[in-house]
Amino acid sequence: MILITGGAGYIGSHINKRLNEQGFETVVFDNLVYGHREAVRWGILETGDLADQNRLYEIFKKYPIDGVFHFAAYAYVGESVLKPSKYYNNNVVNTLHLLDAMGKYQVKNLVFSSTCATYGVPEQMPITEEMDQRPINPYGASKLMIERILADYHQAYGLNYCCLRYFNAAGADPQGEIGESHTPETHLIPLILEAAAGDRDAIRVFGTDYPTRDGSCIRDYIHVTDLADAHLRAMEYLRNGGDSACMNLGNCVGNSVLEVIRAAEEVTGRAIPSIMEERRAGDPPILVGDAKRAQNLLGWKPQYGDIRVILEHAWKWYCNKKF
Ligand code: UDP
Repeated sequence: MILITGGAGYIGSHINKRLNEQGFETVVFDNLVYGHREAVRWGILETGDLADQNRLYEIFKKYPIDGVFHFAAYAYVGESVLKPSKYYNNNVVNTLHLLDAMGKYQVKNLVFSSTCATYGVPEQMPITEEMDQRPINPYGASKLMIERILADYHQAYGLNYCCLRYFNAAGADPQGEIGESHTPETHLIPLILEAAAGDRDAIRVFGTDYPTRDGSCIRDYIHVTDLADAHLRAMEYLRNGGDSACMNLGNCVGNSVLEVIRAAEEVTGRAIPSIMEERRAGDPPILVGDAKRAQNLLGWKPQYGDIRVILEHAWKWYCNKKF
């Protein structure tokens, strides 16, 4: 059985769906602070917090867990700067609880949700895994600390892991059963769609003076279903004896904020009012990931690389949102 911490969240719920489609049995462990009960439409939901070690031991005792996907974390970059204690406790300390429970119950394989925010502001694009990791906020630092802890647990205790460093997760389940829903919402694509639907007055473009082709920031948007596919492959890889590794998950293609807005106008058929604003603090101009390592080690290839397809699926979800 597979344990998914944070499986009621955006990315975790898509992995949960895919695992069940492939015939795995899953237990979702989520405190439902940001996750949605309605997103857990497959497997078993156990509510609880990773801070509560006894509750965690209960779960490992109750189910024959033989692999873990770890998504549970806080992920608001701006908040992490203002409240680092919240981020280091929830993301780092609580991960130690999970790892200790895995050790106690001899569960060896872990797929960890890491991020391109661990790289900070790299000098070269696209970003490869060998490049320096110098996070510029506590959120990215908390994820990097976990990567380091996993490497040490691997050496000392034989834990096997894959750290998957996502670029910008986007889109929604193509069948429209689950999708992206954050409160508060800070991500570009859901905010653009809110503006397209008339649920928000306009989209604010954070910075038009970056050294990019149109002055707005460039990001590598990767479909959440492609992420789900990579996660399943990563667990399979570990079960087949693959070496522990860190891998980027991206399309190696960048889209600017203005390009995403234009593509969303085409996909939705609506005009999207845009307001040009100052830069947002802490935003690197360009982040694009080289994912050759994941392609080589996992045989992974994104199926939904086109930003229009990502937007189509996100729009379909937005128009029929269930949570
Ligand atoms: N962005 C924007 N307006 C918004 C939200 C985001 O212009 O209302 C920009 C942001 O500056 C970044 C890109 O969109 O360049 C993606 O931001 P998001 O918060 O979705 O993800 P991040 O790259 O911060 O992980």
